[in-house]
Amino acid sequence: MRQPLIAGNWKMNTTISEAEALVLEMKDNLNRFVGVETVLCPPYVSLANVGRLLQGSSIRLGAQNLFFEERGAFTGEISASMLEGLCQYVILGHSERRQYFKESNELVSKKMAAALKHGLKPVLCVGEVLGEYEAGRTREVVSEQVHGSLAGISDARHLTVAYEPVWAIGTGKAATGESANRTIGLIRSLIAEKYSHGVAQATRILYGGSVTSANIEEFVSQSEIDGALVGGASLKAPEFTNIVKITSQTRHV
Ligand code: PEP
Repeated sequence: MRQPLIAGNWKMNTTISEAEALVLEMKDNLNRFVGVETVLCPPYVSLANVGRLLQGSSIRLGAQNLFFEERGAFTGEISASMLEGLCQYVILGHSERRQYFKESNELVSKKMAAALKHGLKPVLCVGEVLGEYEAGRTREVVSEQVHGSLAGISDARHLTVAYEPVWAIGTGKAATGESANRTIGLIRSLIAEKYSHGVAQATRILYGGSVTSANIEEFVSQSEIDGALVGGASLKAPEFTNIVKITSQTRHV
């Protein structure tokens, strides 16, 4: 039985003091829900402070990106070795990185390798854009992203995948639970082919895209969906807390 995971991606939001206030507002409530792993992914500059505030709680911390090189002349970048010990998770290949920073599957695979080498658990994001969805190319695009982003990765034990149809991110137009479940089932079969049935069964695969407390149940009640990567709704403490609560109630039997 895979433990559900709800991860909040704060993106480029919150100053350090806003991040501290937000975590203080949600920490105690989030800690009460059993059977769900919760991860908060604030901006880099807040990781240390948020981490300190989370000490002693069961809430985990994640970064939103990293660069694959260890160190050197890469102005503005953050390496996996810098994140090691600071957080447990890292989001990689988010569609905003793919879209605005032209991240390719090849680059994402190098980041995956760097994260795993340093004991960070990657949350690999994949998903089709609207045109691809409308052209019925979801399976093809997602398969290519999964294969390309996992190229050269031989150990997938610490992998989490987030299926995020790009047309659903930040638009208020979520996928249906049924269609997300179908695509996530496909991703699980790709992982089984590449690694093993056992690894595929143990890998958590999340849905992401306009998740709120009003639709989370539709997703986490599906057989293949192991939680959610939440953007906008993770910036509102009561809303995010409700998402985790509903997940706990739906999946903890
Ligand atoms: C995301 O950024 O990964 C995301 C799913 O955003 P939102 O929940 O705002 O659609």
